[in-house]
Amino acid sequence: MSKKGLKRLFGKKAIISLAVFIVVLTSSALTFYFTSDIYTLTRLGYSFNESVAISKTIDKSDLDLLKMAGYIDGFSTAISDPDFDATKLKDYIDYYTRYTSEDISFADAVAIINHDCASVEYQLAKRYINYYTQYQQDRLDFATAKVIIDANGDDIDYNTAQTILNNDNFISDKLVQYFDYHKKYSVLSIHNLITLVNKEITIIDQKEASILQALINENGFNWDNYNRYRAYMDNNPSFPIERVVSDINNNIDKPSAPPSYSGARPADLSKGNLILVNKQNYLDRNYVPTGLVNIEAAYGQLQVKSEVYTAYKAMADAAYQAGVPLYARSPYRSYATQASLYNNYVAQDGQAAADRYSARPGYSEHQTGLAIDITVGPSGTLGGFANSASYVWLMQNAHQYGFILRYPPGKENITGYMYEAWHWRYLGVDVATKVKNSGLTYDEYYARYIK
Ligand SMILES: [Zn+2]
Repeated sequence: MSKKGLKRLFGKKAIISLAVFIVVLTSSALTFYFTSDIYTLTRLGYSFNESVAISKTIDKSDLDLLKMAGYIDGFSTAISDPDFDATKLKDYIDYYTRYTSEDISFADAVAIINHDCASVEYQLAKRYINYYTQYQQDRLDFATAKVIIDANGDDIDYNTAQTILNNDNFISDKLVQYFDYHKKYSVLSIHNLITLVNKEITIIDQKEASILQALINENGFNWDNYNRYRAYMDNNPSFPIERVVSDINNNIDKPSAPPSYSGARPADLSKGNLILVNKQNYLDRNYVPTGLVNIEAAYGQLQVKSEVYTAYKAMADAAYQAGVPLYARSPYRSYATQASLYNNYVAQDGQAAADRYSARPGYSEHQTGLAIDITVGPSGTLGGFANSASYVWLMQNAHQYGFILRYPPGKENITGYMYEAWHWRYLGVDVATKVKNSGLTYDEYYARYIK
């Protein structure tokens, strides 16, 4: 159709109107597009279709906010983040806007919202994110990162934090203190610091921490005695830890309380003739010493270890020459013999009284084959021995044959037994002489020098 034809059909005015109409329509469409959310979103890097979808989920005011805050560039970076979730855009913006004065990055806002920390104040949330990011490759999960940071564990490496969190004695309420002790007292092992915190033991400085670490690690250390070790250390500042532990375990700090059977352990058989058997150190019910020999009638009765017998005969001969006879009345006793003896005493005097003068089975030095109860002769009594010339002679000479008085007067609090003038223990000349010269009971001497 020619122009003339059109003119003829609609007239000139109609054509002008149509042209105006098309121009108006096109420009409003363009205006609409360039002022819409969709345009803003496409500028932010979304495809047209994504922009249409997102524009339906957020307010125009939020997008305006984004533009006004001037972080369009930051936002573009954020949306390229694989964690960016368009459905949370409004929450990101809310959070970001709340903390713009604190130099928050949009990526931080994304991370914080993605970890459900919308209600967490930015500085704290940032610490979560930092810690989490630092140890993410070590399989740290976000919830654990929060636990660690909430307990001020920012500068505790995740490996250490994990060791603390996984300790058998870990108590969650005490995590702040565990971290605090770890930071302040690096000398403490994790296990020890957890125990110290759990027991509410206050440490004042690094020096004290070192002492405690050594104390806890000392062989024989027992938590039941903790307060006594500390008191003993205070009273004896020059004593090495080793001695503190052994002295307290031997109740040297308790003059009025005799040793009890509680906490007893197997006697150390490796010490040979220097073995310590007392209320804290026992022998197995099947233990029988090697080398038992019969005692000849002129010297006593029953059996004893052969080297003890040799020494005893020499001593008895010398005593006889000096006019003070000795008789080995009760040497080696088996576990079963001791059991019936002790049970008879308990039936007769009651357990508390029996425990002061008779050992429970397994706890008797007689089971070692190294001890002998001595009387003046076959008819002499144990009770009468203290007042005999034989006893006086033994007190002066027994060490020269390797024997010591095992339960001296006034030492019941240490030995666990009343004074027994008749009970002599073989240790060999060297140690017997040293024990005599030291003035110590064998329990003390052993703890200090043999153990
Ligand atoms: Zn005895």
